[in-house]
Amino acid sequence: MKKILVCRETDPRETRTPLIPDDVKKLTAMGFEITVVSGTGKKSGFDDAAYEKAGAKVVPSNEAGYKGSEIVLRIMKPASAEGLDKDTLHLSYLDPFNEKELLNDFAKRGIQAVSLEMIPRTTLAQKMDVQSSQTSLAGYVAVLNAAARLPKILPMMVTPSGTINPARVFIIGVGVAGLQAIATAKRLGARVDAFDTRPVVEEQVKSLGASFVKIDLGEMGQTDQGYAKELTPEQIAKQQEAQAKVCERSNIVITTAKVFGRKAPVLIKKDVLDRMMPGSIVVDMAVSTGGNVEGSKLFENVVTDNGVTIMSGDLLERQVPYDASKMLSGNFTAFLTHFYSKESKELDINLNDEIMRGCLLTRGGEIIHERFKESK
Ligand code: NAD
Repeated sequence: MKKILVCRETDPRETRTPLIPDDVKKLTAMGFEITVVSGTGKKSGFDDAAYEKAGAKVVPSNEAGYKGSEIVLRIMKPASAEGLDKDTLHLSYLDPFNEKELLNDFAKRGIQAVSLEMIPRTTLAQKMDVQSSQTSLAGYVAVLNAAARLPKILPMMVTPSGTINPARVFIIGVGVAGLQAIATAKRLGARVDAFDTRPVVEEQVKSLGASFVKIDLGEMGQTDQGYAKELTPEQIAKQQEAQAKVCERSNIVITTAKVFGRKAPVLIKKDVLDRMMPGSIVVDMAVSTGGNVEGSKLFENVVTDNGVTIMSGDLLERQVPYDASKMLSGNFTAFLTHFYSKESKELDINLNDEIMRGCLLTRGGEIIHERFKESK
């Protein structure tokens, strides 16, 4: 396998490309043959000429590129696997917990589908981890979006005309996005509080100069992949209550609390939003998986009756497409390099490799991944 197609994303809101010209050059030198769909890098700052100069062939459409391609790179899940050659290795987000039909379609057509969200969170796979590379940028953008809309500045200012107190920012969920949000809010001069159900996070929060909000919810913790364990309804209710006071005094609240493969917990309900200061901003970064904030809407801002703005925090990395594409491209390149055979100078799908076993969902006409087999 050495013929790679780099697709152009079909959602008009998408701004990123899966592969940037620098990595085309790198992979071409290794022996891969790369075709890119015209316009793939247009919104992230890379024109067709840059891809051609790096050694890629340009075709007018995704469909025009499918025939003869052995490896297909794209970002978001496609509507179907139609048009792909049998045995193609297809890499993209697949949303596998919610997309049974799509998985069946990939299996039925004999495609080898890799789900980017299923790449294991191991040290070896860290370079390929698109979740981390993209959500860290999203955490940064969340703070900037909130700050731009807040009717107040973030840093403290002492002037002859008076003293301005720093804004208060509360981050709920301190994973990859939350850590970056804390760091960004601190750099802008805000006073930051944070909470996470994984106790190991307290030290990380403190090392960034923020305060950790202590809430005793009893048995909490994390999975061996570093993800939070799901809370019971009683624990969630206790958390909502304990957090309410911190929300009320905060100018910005950013929620990032997700539970892998499950619906996100609702952590801020309407009664708390009602008690927040007018003009405050809440960014819900879990909005695509059900939302942490009551009333949040995907890709929309909602203003409550008392003047609190709830901002959609999904896919914020699309606002910084140059860097987001660079990081994604690095993730795809690391994946291809990991499975590259020096002897054959092409990609070798090795199912003895735990990374491949973790993320390859369909092969040989079947769903092969243990976790999704029952999807059929
Ligand atoms: P995530 O997006 O699944 O969740 C975001 C955060 O929300 C997590 O920190 C989680 O603990 C927290 N959360 C869940 N329920 C909550 C609740 N009710 N209240 C408050 N917070 C809640 O997680 P993520 O950001 O993708 O990563 C989580 C952790 O995984 C990271 O901090 C890191 O330690 C680890 N990780 C490891 C690797 C690696 O080893 N390759 C890569 C990336 C992340």
